[in-house]
Parts: sequence; structure tokens; C-alpha cells
Amino acid sequence: MTLALLLTAALASADETRARYLMGTTCTITASHDQSIERAFSEIDRIERRISSWKPESELSRVNRAPVGEPQAVSPELSELLRETVRWHRETGGAFNPLLGPLVHAWRVREEGAIPIPEALVELRKRIAIENLVLGDSTLSRMGEAQIEEGGFGKGYAIDRAVDVARAAGAKRVVIDFGGQIGAYGIERGFEVGIAHPESRERAALMLRIRDGSISTSSGSERRFRIGGRELSHIIDPRTGEPLPPSGSATVIHPSALVADILSTALYVLGPR
Ligand code: AMP
Ligand code: MG
Repeated sequence: MTLALLLTAALASADETRARYLMGTTCTITASHDQSIERAFSEIDRIERRISSWKPESELSRVNRAPVGEPQAVSPELSELLRETVRWHRETGGAFNPLLGPLVHAWRVREEGAIPIPEALVELRKRIAIENLVLGDSTLSRMGEAQIEEGGFGKGYAIDRAVDVARAAGAKRVVIDFGGQIGAYGIERGFEVGIAHPESRERAALMLRIRDGSISTSSGSERRFRIGGRELSHIIDPRTGEPLPPSGSATVIHPSALVADILSTALYVLGPR
């Protein structure tokens, strides 16, 4: 999470800012052209309806419910997005894993936290093996009760698409603040982003400037819980199957918001070294 208070500061005074609740958080869009803001919101809404695991009727939820081993027809969009996440799974040595659904649910990292029994953990770790996602040309099969979890990459993808749509609609400048991840386009003097201090989130640990591209920060302090005498975060190390303790944060600047989102999560898992 970054600080949103500077959102309008670097933009021209004629630019308009609007906020909407999407993908479980507030999305704020500032652009030089108000029609493009509405188009960008519609695009995020469309993506949410396709890839949100919180929406039972989304394409992703349908795939997550499909019978194991039976190929399901999938849209080129979802298929391509998942292919990209599998590629980053490999590039990060497994630190990023798009199949973490079963572990996210078992540890209840989206809620108040829970500790799965050790026997369950062994089974859960088998379910997140990347081989359990079989992508065909226009089909997807899930093996071994795999469950796709979009929490580590969905907002990044949505930012990329929303910036593209806003530009296509005529915006010359765009800034999207989506739950703290920033996407920017055409901000000549650079858009200033405050990176929240991991120990006291209301103050900025550093300031960064971005003209075109995205800044994503993953931090264990963003959502933490104490359970069984352990302090844990919402970020899980796929190699151990356990949530990591809140410690520091990882920030990635990248032309692609999807890549920044994925890599900030992966680098938090990999740690400072
Ligand atoms: P972020 O805030 O972008 O770092 O994403 C954290 C969210 O991604 C969590 O709330 C989980 O839904 C999911 N997640 C947690 N750990 C991982 C991981 N190692 N790889 C992929 N997604 C993860
Ligand atoms: Mg992420």
C-alpha cells in the first residue's frame, strides 16, 4: 500500500478524479478526460466479473469449480493471463504461485487467520503444484484439486487494461491508484508516490516518482494476524506452505502493472537477499 494523499498533487488542475469500489478495495482514477475515466472503470468492472474468485459467477470461479481433469473452454484473455502467471512462477523459482487458493483458504489469510493441521498442510502443498494447471489452446484443466487465486496479480492486470482503455478513449494523462498500487501514463514531471513505512503505515518511508508505468508494494504489515503465538501476514511462501511473518516490504517499479504486482509479492517471499 502506498499513500494516496498525493494523488492529485502532480496532475494538472483541469484533470478530474473519481473513485469507485472495485475488486474489494477503492480504485481512484485521475485523468485529463472524464469520459476516459468512466471507460477505465467499466474495464476494471469487466475484468472483476471475469477473474474474481470472490464472484461465484466469474469465469475464474467457474474454472475453480470444474470437475478435476476435465478440460473446460476458457476465454483467450484468461488463458493468456494464466500463461503469464505460470511463466512468472518459473522465473521466480516458485516464490510466486497463481495456484495458492487452497493455502489462502486453509490459513484464512483473507480473514482472521487459522492454523491448518500438519497432515492437511502436506495435502495442500500437493494441490499448489504448477503442473496441476494444464493450459490447452482454448481449454484449461485443473488437476489435483487446484484452485487459482488472483489476489497476487488481478489488480495489476486490471491497472494495465484500464490505462490502455483510458488512453484509447483519449486521455493524455492517467493515474490509477488501486488499493495502493499505482499505474501512471503521461505524467510529464512524474507522479509522486509515497511508499508506506512497513512499521508505521501512515508515514512514507520514501518517495518515488513515476511518469509511465506502475509501482507496486507488497508488505506483510498490510494484513497481519496473530495466531498460536505467531505473527503472520497474508503473503504465503509456496515453498513451505506457510504465511510469512510481517517484516519489511518489497516495492517494484515496472512498465507493466501486472509484472510489478507479481514481482512485489514474489520479492517479499524471497526476502532481502
Ligand atoms: P500482494 O498484496 O500483491 O502482495 O498480494 C497478496 C495476495 O496474493 C494475498 O492476499 C493472496 O491472495 C495472494 N498471495 C499470497 N502469497 C502469494 C504468493 N506467494 N504467490 C501468489 N499469490 C500470493
Ligand atoms: Mg502482488
